[in-house]
Amino acid sequence: MEKNTSSSSSAAHVLIIPFPAQGHVTPMLSLAKLLSFSGVFTTFVNTESIHRRLSVSSDLTDRRRLRFRAVPDPLTGGADEELDFSSKFIKLQESMRSCSTEAYKKLLLTEELAGEWPPVTCVIADGILDYAIEVAGEVGIPTLVFRTSSPCCAWAFASLPSLIHHGIIPFPAECDMDEIVKGVEGMEGILRRRDLPSFMRMVKSTEDNYIKLMNGFNSKLIIGKAIIFNSFDALDPTILPIMSSYYPPIFTIGPLHLLTKFFNISNEKEQEQEPGKNPCSSSLRQEDRACMTWLDNQPDKSVIYVSFGTVTVMSPEKFIEFWYGLVNSGHRFLWAVREDMVKGKQEMEVTKEMEEGTKERGCMVEWVPQKEVLAHRAVGCFLTHSGWNSTIEGMVAGVPMICWPDLVDQMVNSRFVSDVWRIGLDMKDTCDRNIVERMVREVMEGEIALELRSSAARMADLARKSVEENGTSRVNFDSLVSYIKSIEL
Ligand code: UDP
Repeated sequence: MEKNTSSSSSAAHVLIIPFPAQGHVTPMLSLAKLLSFSGVFTTFVNTESIHRRLSVSSDLTDRRRLRFRAVPDPLTGGADEELDFSSKFIKLQESMRSCSTEAYKKLLLTEELAGEWPPVTCVIADGILDYAIEVAGEVGIPTLVFRTSSPCCAWAFASLPSLIHHGIIPFPAECDMDEIVKGVEGMEGILRRRDLPSFMRMVKSTEDNYIKLMNGFNSKLIIGKAIIFNSFDALDPTILPIMSSYYPPIFTIGPLHLLTKFFNISNEKEQEQEPGKNPCSSSLRQEDRACMTWLDNQPDKSVIYVSFGTVTVMSPEKFIEFWYGLVNSGHRFLWAVREDMVKGKQEMEVTKEMEEGTKERGCMVEWVPQKEVLAHRAVGCFLTHSGWNSTIEGMVAGVPMICWPDLVDQMVNSRFVSDVWRIGLDMKDTCDRNIVERMVREVMEGEIALELRSSAARMADLARKSVEENGTSRVNFDSLVSYIKSIEL
């Protein structure tokens, strides 16, 4: 298929294509709304199943400059359980490539005859969606890469060759996980072995699939015309300048959900006009709003909000440790427990103690409107898996965190939360009711609690300032828009 260049329209048209998962769709949809609001024609491309799920919560009607399209879903094999994470991920990428490439190419190359839409002038592709970046390159459409992880994690990944050179990876047998590692420029003295992205601890040899996976992530950063992060400059004053010296232009334009507020895109009036559908929601699951009523009845800053994100799966034993820890702390808690989060929960033994403690002080639901929950006056602590969206949402709300990272970037994020930004505690690699109880008390009571609260409030202030008029993210966003508008095919 050849690129159609016959159009005389010079208007910018960006096609945004996220990896099909909640943590990727959410920030990229915010960006789509912001770009269309700023005069850029924007096509947002989901897979069909994500499109259907998103339609339940959000209004996906095409607007003047924002429209939604879907490409076929990847095939999900039945025997995948046996495979490790890297092999599953590589298989998924292959399936997406074979199932979706044709439909995606068509969207890239065909002019919209029905409307006044110009041809696609650039793609903003998820930095881990291989085929989206490759195909845009093949048909000659410039690509900007959106990395939905934190810059500090992207930089830890990018330091893979240096970590191998320093003998950190593969981890030597029986190594000291608390040893501070060399080899990540700008993070000297910060990262211990256990804080490196979780893929790094899985590496057995420099030839294995995890190395291929990380090399793949890293190579995407230099392929595009620019890199976009849902972050703000004040978070990484050391790392971002270092990264900028190696990479194409970097646009830090977050927190995106806050930027949409400042552009008045999330406005309650709109929500009222469309009962049941929220033009600002990007939730792929049904939100249980009863928890908001429960929160309304709790005192200020008295509740620990608990969520382990969208992917984490834990054993019943671990779940019970958290449950006991929360109940034993004597504090109130709201826990988002996805129906697929605990593997083998039917065998879980729930004691009277747990049941009564929960009835008295707890609320458990499957899925909450998280940003609203974090912003609620009753929430005083966020027990989180340290996914990047959750971390940045917690920062914006000024809520101190207890971090229990499970996968990939979460390892780095939680270290930065506890030891660089100092807005929380990190309980990585432990899962014990006594530690949960102790940390909850530390974040909710006494001197440490006061310190954490005041640095979390400072962080929230920095986040807010970054999106205000002349704030770094606001300025960077305006530059991104000008950059996109300047691209000519
Ligand atoms: N989330 C939500 N309700 C819940 C749990 C999570 O809306 O009950 C949202 C949360 O606000 C965040 C996203 O799901 O935007 C999770 O993204 P994150 O990057 O934190 O974690 P991951 O998807 O990688 O697990």
